Amino acid sequence: MTTLAIQFRFSPNPEIDRLLDACGTMVMEAVSWALDNNKTATHTIVKELYPSFRERFPGLHSAWVQKSARTAAAIVHAFRRRKRRGREEKDRPEMRKAWVYVDKSVFRWEWDGIHLTIRISVRPHDENPIVLRFRPHGKYRRLVEAWARGECGFGEPTLSRTMLIIPLKFPDVPAYEPRSVMGIDSNERSLDGFEIGGASWTLDTSWGAAKCADHDRRIRRGTKGKQNPKAKKKIIRKHSHRRKNRVRELWHGVACVLIWMALNANNALVLEKLQGLKARIAASMPKRLRQRLLNHWSIRTFHAILKHKARVYGVPLIEIDPRGTSSTCPVCGGSLRGRVELTCPSCGLSGNRHILAAWNIARRGQAKLPIGGKGRAEEGIALFHRLQSPRWGQGVVGAPGRPLPAQAGSGQLPS
Ligand SMILES: [Zn+2]
Repeated sequence: MTTLAIQFRFSPNPEIDRLLDACGTMVMEAVSWALDNNKTATHTIVKELYPSFRERFPGLHSAWVQKSARTAAAIVHAFRRRKRRGREEKDRPEMRKAWVYVDKSVFRWEWDGIHLTIRISVRPHDENPIVLRFRPHGKYRRLVEAWARGECGFGEPTLSRTMLIIPLKFPDVPAYEPRSVMGIDSNERSLDGFEIGGASWTLDTSWGAAKCADHDRRIRRGTKGKQNPKAKKKIIRKHSHRRKNRVRELWHGVACVLIWMALNANNALVLEKLQGLKARIAASMPKRLRQRLLNHWSIRTFHAILKHKARVYGVPLIEIDPRGTSSTCPVCGGSLRGRVELTCPSCGLSGNRHILAAWNIARRGQAKLPIGGKGRAEEGIALFHRLQSPRWGQGVVGAPGRPLPAQAGSGQLPS
């Protein structure tokens, strides 16, 4: 089961404000009660607080009381998890925005091909439910259509004063038996691939790092000379948010292209295991370079996105230990010499170091996977067609209106 969430923004609305005032109060009280009494199970909270909440909010459908308790339990659980990991200093969770889970019994949706109409009942047998209408486009539209066709179910929606999030749950596409493998070497400025029995390629991804540096510069300029910590924080939040979105958008595109390549060639994807990778590389660098790498290289984000998409479309993907992949000869196992162009003194193989690393990664993956399968990726391809923009199939990568240089097909290495 894979979850793809769709989120819709709407402008503030008095009915929703009233509903969230009530639910927000219940959630906050339930959070306090749960922490004071050290009871965090949803049903315990409901059992304890339900009668008094029902009395205080008599007009409300009982589902809202139940879900407020459920929301409180979720907040407490997340808070405790952060606390355990040492990421939380306060003794109470801070709740900046009121939100609540929406029970399916008060949630109706309707899709007419253009508009998604959501009806949310506030009272029991509600004659005048809250109506929200959205006009999804692009990717969301494809997701909503899949939902309307019954290809996916949906989980608990969440509602805040200005946003509705609906998690769509897709059944997993079973992974196919790969015909061959493609190793992917992740570098600071590029991704390099090597397909066993196929071509090698280089994809320039420096755009992401450049955008990170760009937003960092804006944060520095924007906060320069400012004394008010609140104003500073606001600027930082704004730019960090944008930076995150733009980088994610880039990696989504790149991941889509790779998934598309793998699906069409019936390949398995092989990645390096990343735990501690950045730190290992950074240890051997001068300070300035190291800082740049740690701040601007969002490679874990990319791997997480790629792994998620591989699961959705049934692309087999494994991770291997990357130790020695950039210094060992993929043909004879000797140690390579050189800096950018590497050569093997024992067998004479030479080539670009990133491509050779990708070759090694592919070989390690090949050793771990049963390959040569007939591979049937039809199901994944069909799903990809339904959910993704057709432009990914053409290998166009980059932010909208700003395509990245994709230097694919740098040819096969001499072997
Ligand atoms: Zn060699």
